Amino acid sequence: MDGKRLEYKGEEALKELERLTSKVDEVQESILKDILKRNKETVYLKKFMVGSTNVSAFKCLVPVVTYSSIHPYIQRISNGEDSSLLSSHPITEFLCSSGTSGGEPKLMPSIAEDLDRRTFLYNLIMPIINQYVPGLDGGKAMYLYFAKAEQSTPSGLPARPVLTSYYKSKHFKCRSDPFNDFTSPDQTILCTDSRQSMYCQLLPGLLHRHRVLRLGAIFASAFLRAINFLERNWVQLCNDIRLGQLDPSITDPGCRLAILDVLTSPNPVLADQIEAICRRKSWKGVLCQLWPRAKYVEAVVTGSMAQYIPTLDFYSAGKLPLVCTMYASSECYLGVNLNPLCDPADVAYTILPNLGYFEFIPLGNNGSLFAYKDDEEVERDKLVNLAHVRIGCYYEIVVTTFAGLYRYRIGDVLQVTGFHNKAPQFRFVCRRNVVLSIDNDKTSEEDLHKSVTMAKKLLEPYEALLVEYTSCTATSTIPGHYIMFWEIVTHTSSLNELTQLETHLFEDCCMAIEESLDYVYRRCRTFDRSVGPLEIRVVEPGTFELLMDLCINQGGSINQYKTPRCINSNTSALDLLNSRVCASFFSPRDPTWIP
Ligand code: AMP
Repeated sequence: MDGKRLEYKGEEALKELERLTSKVDEVQESILKDILKRNKETVYLKKFMVGSTNVSAFKCLVPVVTYSSIHPYIQRISNGEDSSLLSSHPITEFLCSSGTSGGEPKLMPSIAEDLDRRTFLYNLIMPIINQYVPGLDGGKAMYLYFAKAEQSTPSGLPARPVLTSYYKSKHFKCRSDPFNDFTSPDQTILCTDSRQSMYCQLLPGLLHRHRVLRLGAIFASAFLRAINFLERNWVQLCNDIRLGQLDPSITDPGCRLAILDVLTSPNPVLADQIEAICRRKSWKGVLCQLWPRAKYVEAVVTGSMAQYIPTLDFYSAGKLPLVCTMYASSECYLGVNLNPLCDPADVAYTILPNLGYFEFIPLGNNGSLFAYKDDEEVERDKLVNLAHVRIGCYYEIVVTTFAGLYRYRIGDVLQVTGFHNKAPQFRFVCRRNVVLSIDNDKTSEEDLHKSVTMAKKLLEPYEALLVEYTSCTATSTIPGHYIMFWEIVTHTSSLNELTQLETHLFEDCCMAIEESLDYVYRRCRTFDRSVGPLEIRVVEPGTFELLMDLCINQGGSINQYKTPRCINSNTSALDLLNSRVCASFFSPRDPTWIP
């Protein structure tokens, strides 16, 4: 009873959750002991612990590391050396994280039993939601999931995103839960041509529109991409439904076969209904019209995904709750949201103590005091155990896994908001290191997000909505300055009219951002003069869609795609954005700074 058994469903899963969260310290200690016992002979652990399995020795001898420290081991295993460099279990695959190192995706080791751990977390989600939204087993879920083509290491191990690995596993394919009745046939999820996959998932979603009880995707950005695809392709989709025939542009044999099962006969009545909804000039509330029984939209809208909330609310006319269910990463699955209907701003994830061993680097009481850089040594005795974090404090999470990560910094900054039994609950703050910096100023992703949130309010009276943003630093001019790329949707005037007639509006937005950036930034701007006036470049509609395509072509996955908040290191992304600028504005004066 120490968290090792992983097969639970329904009520039993909830009971296990209660048990685990009531014994966090015991479960964590048992997990660490088990990892050390199993992996003590690995080359990595032996180097620091010389075969010991002592927990105190682990804490004082094993360093806290980032990817660069484990990369040589990963590379050796991917070139054919034995898994025992890192883990006593065979490494069965590498999971490609959305984080990059030297332009390449980071590869995380994974062992066969990790799938059981991930499935344990998935099996908790519906019992949790069912407590708040009963009856979901009486209908379907339109979840838009995407697999990505996998690669293979020189030694023949698959290298793929964690979700692709899951969708290909028997754990996913053989799911039997009544809650797992998806509109998307598995073959359409597994199709690696993203256009065909999207088309063939939306089609059955529309065919079953009266049976769909929930909508979703992994991240909010992927769900909005689907709506955007529907806006561009509904005529074709309706045509298929009307004729009972699949468009010939769909050539993937798996997709064709799967769709022929559901597209059995012409249905002009359904096609007319969908067409009447999609033809409307405004798509405000379109989700509730197309899927009238839908009770919520499930997608991650925390962290940098929070900026999509207004757009999602627009498409549901504010009528569908946005549900964030889980917090996970390629390194290790982490936690669940026990209050799924809460406001997105209040989402907190309860970390499950049986998924790995978790430690926390304290970052002071203010998340912007990021104490440790990537290459900086973290004092080993500073780390706090899962059960001992304190409410209100900010931490960077560090994981130790069975698959061979030891005190590894994922890079996420979390804030403790409360406890469920003895398990802490965390607000996702941001990913460390996504910063703009010109002089002494250091702007985190959260700082950027906060300041953009302030500034975009100024657009509201003009019925304009900021739908996407990213940033970079311009350093070829002296002093350098921050550039924000903004994509705006206008509901009354055209974008051209807005940018040509309302210069002051955008200048005020520049100012609002600068005023909300931190003290050091404003000092650099006003006193040191080491940072120049902030610039907003408004880009043409659809630019961020192209940016997503570009990032996916460069090796990213649709499921895991998150708009980069800073594109300094991606020259082709910079070129793309710069080629689509339709207007540019600068802060007209210095921000406030009082010494
Ligand atoms: P990946 O390495 O591509 O699997 O991405 C994992 C990362 O996505 C995490 O380390 C977080 O930075 C982010 N992430 C995952 N789940 C959430 C969530 N629920 N809220 C905010 N960010 C998340």
